[in-house]
Amino acid sequence: MKLASRIEHVTYAIRDVAVAAEALERKGRKILKLNIGDPDAYDFDTPEYIRKAMGEAVEKRLNGYGDSQGLARLREAVVKENRRNGIRCAPGDVVVSAGVSEAVQMLCGALLDPRDEVLVPSPGYPQYESLVNYHGAVPRFYELVEEKGFAPDLSQLEGTDMRRAKALVIINPHNPTGGVLEKKQLAGLLEFAAEHKLVVFSDEIYSELVFDAKHTAAASLARDVPVVTLSGMSKNNLAPGWRVGWMTFTGFEDSGLKEAVLQLCRLRLCANMPAQYAAAVGLEHEKDNRAAYGETLRKLRRRRDLAFKRLNEMPGLSCVKPEGAFYAFPRIDDHRKAWKNDRQFADELLREESVLTVFGAGFAEKQGTKHFRIVFLPPEEVLEEAFARIERFMRKRRF
Ligand code: PLP
Repeated sequence: MKLASRIEHVTYAIRDVAVAAEALERKGRKILKLNIGDPDAYDFDTPEYIRKAMGEAVEKRLNGYGDSQGLARLREAVVKENRRNGIRCAPGDVVVSAGVSEAVQMLCGALLDPRDEVLVPSPGYPQYESLVNYHGAVPRFYELVEEKGFAPDLSQLEGTDMRRAKALVIINPHNPTGGVLEKKQLAGLLEFAAEHKLVVFSDEIYSELVFDAKHTAAASLARDVPVVTLSGMSKNNLAPGWRVGWMTFTGFEDSGLKEAVLQLCRLRLCANMPAQYAAAVGLEHEKDNRAAYGETLRKLRRRRDLAFKRLNEMPGLSCVKPEGAFYAFPRIDDHRKAWKNDRQFADELLREESVLTVFGAGFAEKQGTKHFRIVFLPPEEVLEEAFARIERFMRKRRF
């Protein structure tokens, strides 16, 4: 069967690598999994008051179809959440989706014609590159400079032809580096977007998972720039399986993009109703949420510190300190030319030491460099074991 050519550019390394690990597991191997950003796969749990609301939703018979734009009570709760982050908006500016993933899909579907361009960070979360490609559009990368703590650098784009560029993606806190943008850096990105009349897609799904830095919402800083802020239940509220996310439209001169997204929303009827209800109840527990974020961060901080220490003391590796989310993106100093590329590094690490990571090329890293991404969600003893194995793996190559 001849398949659509658009499917050729759709890859998602984070889940693609799991296929090899599952084959090993079927042969009885126990794999230490540091590949997927799902807190509930480790010792984190959706808070009880949110879990209970999910059961309640079904009992309340919220089992039918709902509003395509999203449950009104959830959109109101999102408005309050946004206000706390300095974003002024109304329930009509909020659209609920099946996670940020569906939101990005709908935004690309509504905005992009073939050959249009979207500026995406490199390295960066791979869904953006894949979805832009899938719509026949072209991702153009702006570099996050590792030597400067993964600070964004737009200088390669300056003076280039921007006529086809339509959107700028910001991921803050960042996957895969754990970087959190300083206010000045964020302002620089917004200024560039204003100058070139770009829509900003600001992915803030990890906004509450920040260690010592301070997270600034792009829409709270933006002047004369249209921003779609993307967030949801998956990370801050530890409920990725619920598939509830939302986008907030602010700073638009007209409602064209939002109306086009709503057309796509109607096409898929509605988002999961019980999960939307539970998300609304969850967000309304403002004080409990503060406590829950604090507890998550306390656990994560110890794991982040351990990962940062171990990855930097190992021969052949170095790692920028993650300031948010739960990822580290260590660099492989391959002066021994031990691996053709980082895919081979990750493959061999899996086969020899049963540690599953994601190779850096899966995140559009800078050409000529090699990286891999780990999640530091597992408990310390699992991380200790994983790092001992990675160290043994490096030493076997005489690093
Ligand atoms: N955006 C970023 C930056 C992510 O890292 C992820 C998941 O890892 C997502 C979006 C997916 O979010 P959702 O579960 O809401 O679809």
